[in-house]
Amino acid sequence: MRYSFDYTEHLDQLIPLLKSLEEDVILSESKLAQLFSKYPRANGEVFRKSEVVTSYRKLAGTNGLAPLDRKVLRRIQMKPTRTISGVTPVTVLTKPFPCPGKCIFCPNDIRMPKSYLADEPGAQRAERNAFDPYLQTYNRLLAYQNTGHQTEKIEIIVLGGTWSYYPEPYQIWFIKECFRAMNDFSEGRDDREVIITRYETVKKKLAKANDTLGRDDQFVATSNPLENKVEMAAYQVHGQQIDQTYNQVVSQLYTAPEKISGVDQLQTATWDELESLQIINESAKSRCVGLVIETRPDNISEAEVRRIRRLGCTKTQIGFQSLNDFVLLQNKRGHDVAATRRAVKLLRQAGFKIHAHWMPNLYGSTPEQDKADYLKMFNDPDFCPDELKIYPCSLIESAELMQYYERGDWKPYSEEELLDVLSFCLMNTPRYCRLTRVIRDIPSTDIVVGNKKTNFREMVERALEKAGEKSLNIRAREVRNRLIQAEELVVKETHYPGSVSEELFIEYVCPTQTTELIAGFLRLSLPTVQNFMEELQDAAIIREVHVYGQAVGIGQRDEGKAQHLGLGTKLIERAKAVAIKKGFTKLAVISSIGTREYYRQRGFVDAGLYQVADLSLKQ
Ligand code: SF4
Repeated sequence: MRYSFDYTEHLDQLIPLLKSLEEDVILSESKLAQLFSKYPRANGEVFRKSEVVTSYRKLAGTNGLAPLDRKVLRRIQMKPTRTISGVTPVTVLTKPFPCPGKCIFCPNDIRMPKSYLADEPGAQRAERNAFDPYLQTYNRLLAYQNTGHQTEKIEIIVLGGTWSYYPEPYQIWFIKECFRAMNDFSEGRDDREVIITRYETVKKKLAKANDTLGRDDQFVATSNPLENKVEMAAYQVHGQQIDQTYNQVVSQLYTAPEKISGVDQLQTATWDELESLQIINESAKSRCVGLVIETRPDNISEAEVRRIRRLGCTKTQIGFQSLNDFVLLQNKRGHDVAATRRAVKLLRQAGFKIHAHWMPNLYGSTPEQDKADYLKMFNDPDFCPDELKIYPCSLIESAELMQYYERGDWKPYSEEELLDVLSFCLMNTPRYCRLTRVIRDIPSTDIVVGNKKTNFREMVERALEKAGEKSLNIRAREVRNRLIQAEELVVKETHYPGSVSEELFIEYVCPTQTTELIAGFLRLSLPTVQNFMEELQDAAIIREVHVYGQAVGIGQRDEGKAQHLGLGTKLIERAKAVAIKKGFTKLAVISSIGTREYYRQRGFVDAGLYQVADLSLKQ
């Protein structure tokens, strides 16, 4: 039975609770909990936060309550940090599908797209939604709204295996459905029931297909490291051990039956269908202000770069893993460092933000080798990622690495070694890079040996603080929700060489005693080679404009917050001035669908897959 909440039944308790929330200026989580306990429902049960948010939205401006105030909503928010960077992230997973990689450290959970585990929270959400992009996006937006978060500036993060390996019609459909969900959510439409019914029908067809093939559809993934089969994970099907790779099993489990049941026909769309929904999203209430996909370096080509751009992508998560050919080979990564160099060049030329994944403690590496690798990542102009996830290698039972561990060929770093390597990494990350993750948030029950502490990043930061040191990376300096006065801000420019450009990182910072808090920044590429993207010939390229502060709605103002000090416009004007000085006649921007309007208002015109300002015109 579906849970429903009728606020009208609890007015006697809700009104005094909401009045207290209006009156209190600052509430900590514990104070908030105390307040909730003070005004429980008639039966003594404490209200859920989502119920209080829903009630506040309905009751604001009535029963002696003041009109709706976003500050009050924020007081009730469950986890304000989720939207603290200025946008609301919506992570969606693709369906289980073969991956071209054979990486020995990668989990083989056939219920998930490659490399994900069924009990990771994001993965569970995706599975509950049948990996359907519409259901995942819509339900996530709804959950955010119900907990008082903004749902207007959305970053869609598509995770799962190797994006570029999924068939193009699936890719177009997947992104189209994310846009359709954002557009429907904006308009108060809801297609979820229709989709669920469709899946029910397909499920019946699949059961029939499985029957025909003589299979049980309850497959249980169980790794069998004792089998000691290299490149193979073992799965238990019909009580028998069969030795098949993840790719073989998911092909049989999903791909073939999908063809029989017609799912592959449902998960197909055309470019025209996608583009018409993108146009609607340009002015929708829930706009896509960022779109991220993840892929492998050797899957990046000129054609692929054009294709992901056409999908609306603005950032690529790309697995570097190591910058050492020996280590890549030892881990059966299937590509060399040269492929990573090529991929970064192409992505940077096309203006993409590059979000790298890098793994210390891989088979064949050492703490010293990892440190050298890390320095190379930022000292060699061929790399220099804008964002980075550091994922120390964890041992997952279903990964081939298990066999190496059992043979005694690989072992995890001790806590001391890991602390040492990660401290080194934090202290050697340049100010233009954002360390989004320092440990992968894998449930400890999935980790066979090695670090199981998901708060390891805080441990590293505390150790650095004790030593009187502090990382300069963006995440350590974000202004978060602090109120800022324009006069506190100063501009800082960092130039660094890229393989195909001179890179400029322009920041608005607020100096404090310990650091320079960052209120907003812009990434400008000043190309030094001819660009393969026609629209970008002779153009300097804005790769990112980011202004911090809790996400506020489009067109709404939150005085004093960095997002509304006009920093975005100031940064763009500064980029224009730099580009003119450097002799460029055009300034292009890799805008996302939901920021096209913003750039049009600032003198940019649509030009193919980008937007461009003519710098030869009198400014
Ligand atoms: S490419 Fe990525 S998803 Fe594929 S096997 Fe390697 S690590 Fe796993």
